[in-house]
Amino acid sequence: MLLSRKFKLARVINVNRDPNSFDLVRIPGDLYVIRRRPGMKNPYGLHNGELVTADTVSRGLDCNCVCPACGHRLQSHQGDLKRPYFSHYRGSDCGAGYETAIHLMAKDILAEHKRLLLPELQVFSDANVVVEGRYTEREHLVKPWTRLNFDTVQLETRVDSFIPDVIMTKDARRLMVEIRVTHAVDKKKLDWVIENDHPMVEYDFSRFPRVVDRRELKSALIDTYKKRGMGRGKWIHHPKIEETKSKLTKQYLRNLEEERQATLDALRKTRVPVDPQQRLDFG
Ligand SMILES: [Zn+2]
Repeated sequence: MLLSRKFKLARVINVNRDPNSFDLVRIPGDLYVIRRRPGMKNPYGLHNGELVTADTVSRGLDCNCVCPACGHRLQSHQGDLKRPYFSHYRGSDCGAGYETAIHLMAKDILAEHKRLLLPELQVFSDANVVVEGRYTEREHLVKPWTRLNFDTVQLETRVDSFIPDVIMTKDARRLMVEIRVTHAVDKKKLDWVIENDHPMVEYDFSRFPRVVDRRELKSALIDTYKKRGMGRGKWIHHPKIEETKSKLTKQYLRNLEEERQATLDALRKTRVPVDPQQRLDFG
């Protein structure tokens, strides 16, 4: 009863809200509830074109800040109990201030440093079979996590019909970089990179703590892995994926066939011919 009430409540509060603001939480009995992620207030504003947090400016309207997304006037709130945040002055919140702020900060960091911590590229074969009751899958690490310096960084540059967040080039090779805060890479971008076999990497900050400073963001984009050994980036598309997958699948099927043949040969060799006379004696 309690569980179903919780679930219903979760469904009600999820109506017309951004699904990225909620976590799916597993509870005993193989049930899931949707829980609102805490701390949804926007800590960022633009002050004379610079991104600032609400604790570094004057209180209220004296902060002289505008929303990074819509340009609306902001007022800062600096209570003792809550973390400082901005709200839109006499207007409904556009809801995009935080996302825009993180995008701006990430782009600025990449433009300044021209460096990126690229995620590992891991490829799985297409062939999955059950061998002796075990489910097996072949994987191959094409590239490990790598820090790379780039020659140029372009922000918000149109490519065909869309605008990637950042384009970084190295030796005339182009990499598209997407910063995820609430929305994953959309279908239009995804279709384009697959069709054109173009590398694209995404950095996911959707579960990042709401108040994040520039140093932490730089660390996640360029310097360090998360403590448990994983970075924020993931390949959306990489030209080596299909090629490697095809090679891996062929090799896997070849190995499997060789193993099968070897087993059959071994069985043939160990088979003892039956003496017809012996069979009669025992019959
Ligand atoms: Zn706004």
